[in-house]
Amino acid sequence: MEDINQELLKVLAAREQRWEMRRKLVKEKRRCLITVTLCIPIVYRTDDEFCTLFQYFCRTFLSSLILNGHHAYFEDYICGEDGPAFFISIETEAKSIKRICVKVEENVTGARMLDIDVMDIDGTPVGREDIAIAPRRCFICDNSAMVCVSKRRHSPDEISTCVEQLKEKMAVSSHSLTILSSIVKE
Ligand SMILES: [Zn+2]
Repeated sequence: MEDINQELLKVLAAREQRWEMRRKLVKEKRRCLITVTLCIPIVYRTDDEFCTLFQYFCRTFLSSLILNGHHAYFEDYICGEDGPAFFISIETEAKSIKRICVKVEENVTGARMLDIDVMDIDGTPVGREDIAIAPRRCFICDNSAMVCVSKRRHSPDEISTCVEQLKEKMAVSSHSLTILSSIVKE
């Protein structure tokens, strides 16, 4: 129990550090901030192979934004106890960029396991509800992610199989600027 608590504390500390970093970047850059993280269980989030793939994807995503005329800038990449996080600042209006991020989460194969969060220039997070879009779906089934997580609807085996499949799919899309660009394009 002691160990579990220690691990949990580390994860929470990492999460808080990430939140502070977001606020700081927004303040310094005076631009909206996109934060990409993984929304799969912690054991996969901290896996090296996964983090490499994640970085590839984020870089391609950034390139696709620039290619579509957005003034977007790489700010930072961290890989802590809570998994990897990739930060992009952008001059696009917060709600417009949130719409694009949701489109990527839902339409890029494998991207369902990503959380692409947006903070506006005042440091306020822009949620799906702010752009009248339904809450995100579970990365395994089509139900709301929150319901599946809280009710523990999926077995560890089911989760692991799905994560492996998503990983393979993401390996393809993370290298394809063409696919990402066509989705980013409004
Ligand atoms: Zn589900």
